[in-house]
Amino acid sequence: MTGDVKRMYINGEWSLAEGGATFDIVNPADQSVVATVTNGAAPEIQRAVAAAHAAFREWSLLAPKDRGRFLLGIQELMQERCDELARLVTLENGKPFEEARKEVQFSLGYFGWFAEEARRMTGEWIPSPQPGKRYWVLHQPIGCVAAVTPWNFPATMVTRKIAPALASGCTVVLKPASATPLTALAIAEITRDAGLPPGVFNVLTTNRSRLVGNELLTHPLIRKIGFTGSTDVGKGIMETAARQIKRLSFELGGNAPFIVFDDADLEPAVDGAVAMKFLRVGGQSCICANRIYVQRGIAERFIPAFIDAVKRLKVAPGFEPGAQVGPLINEETRAKVHALVEDAVKRGARLVCGGHYLTEGAHAKGFFYAPAVLLDVTDDMAIAQEEIFGPAAPILTFAAEDEVIRRANATRFGLAAYFYTRDLARLMRVAEQLEYGLVGANDATGYTHEIPFGGFKESGLGREGGHEGIEEYTEVKSVVVNLG
Ligand code: NAP
Ligand code: MG
Repeated sequence: MTGDVKRMYINGEWSLAEGGATFDIVNPADQSVVATVTNGAAPEIQRAVAAAHAAFREWSLLAPKDRGRFLLGIQELMQERCDELARLVTLENGKPFEEARKEVQFSLGYFGWFAEEARRMTGEWIPSPQPGKRYWVLHQPIGCVAAVTPWNFPATMVTRKIAPALASGCTVVLKPASATPLTALAIAEITRDAGLPPGVFNVLTTNRSRLVGNELLTHPLIRKIGFTGSTDVGKGIMETAARQIKRLSFELGGNAPFIVFDDADLEPAVDGAVAMKFLRVGGQSCICANRIYVQRGIAERFIPAFIDAVKRLKVAPGFEPGAQVGPLINEETRAKVHALVEDAVKRGARLVCGGHYLTEGAHAKGFFYAPAVLLDVTDDMAIAQEEIFGPAAPILTFAAEDEVIRRANATRFGLAAYFYTRDLARLMRVAEQLEYGLVGANDATGYTHEIPFGGFKESGLGREGGHEGIEEYTEVKSVVVNLG
């Protein structure tokens, strides 16, 4: 795949950057260069925004059902090219190929869901308090949207933003993560093959994120920013966006508690914890279990079963059959995970498995890390307070329900939480008291298209998916009619 430069997608055309700047996309499993991509800067940002702006009027005036037809066409082509897309996801992100296929399969469903939701962008007729007046309320697309996405789900993070934006009648300039733009470019190609009009969807590839912050996210023609990434970058964007009161949607970091009560079914709880800690991009997901709280009465059975399951995980390059945990995205991320593990050990935690770099054989050139389990972790350790974003599982114990709810909520994050119990009354109490946007009760599969997803507190603003997902891309207008 090396050789020629992958161009970015602006106004329905494949284009290079002025001056010909490029950057390389590296396979995290072996550090080979898988592609060279155009490195966009200010002139390309201007062109992309101009194209999205010019396309807005016509696109927004299409009947929702007709916009939906384009979305369904995109969904169908993504389905046809699922394996091709999954291959790109594994190449640039590193996750196991089977997991990448599941991601692509899931990601394309957003086009189907929002194609249908477009037809339900209804308004309201409000009874007038005075005779001779009429009031109606309508929802209209905001305008040009800038979407900025992270590398951990190169397909889903893109479709979860662009499907509702396009469905509502907005046009989009997408800036994918610089580590994983290839999947986004392949999706652009699909939108082109599906006949989406030029300018409606544009992909700007660049590794100059500061410039994106300054030129794209502050562009006066950009009405709304949809951002998924870290809380710190989100805060910076919010500060800048304040100058123009831009509309914002944020999906930010998390610190998910995973709670196992004494009365939980052991096997599903162990499987759920392993899945939510290690089997979603090797722990590099915002909804991954970050703190595993185990009640004293089940700890003796849960902990050995969990360690045993973790020891059996296959850490391997994503294309190796049976691979379950791939490499981390880069050395910086691996070093951060390792530093959190070392810090916990220094402060009294017991490392009972993994917790070191994997450097031999198939692991030699990639950013692999042996899945770690830490016991005797306490709430004040950095590993329990920060988002780990990697294959390390800190285990904490607790005595009572009230106590664990208080501890689980004692964080600035509020994205996802999980708990296991067989007691229905407890299930309802705990679900209601956890201050999180997504709560898995005896479930560790995460969200689906039909439900709103987003964070409390510093984990975000707004919701993606569900009915709410499309509302994020609309303005509400009240029309007052004087009948004279
Ligand atoms: P990140 O560093 O915040 O980057 C996210 C995106 O923002 C990338 O496209 C990045 O470009 C861009 N960016 C970085 N600095 C910027 C700036 N100053 N101005 C404008 N754009 C900027 O996050 P990440 O490291 O890629 O992803 C991990 C984080 O994302 C974690 O905290 C995770 O929890 C969060 N996340 C949240 C969700 C959710 O739904 N809540 C989902 C997935 C991930 P570059 O790629 O060029 O740096
Ligand atoms: Mg980053």
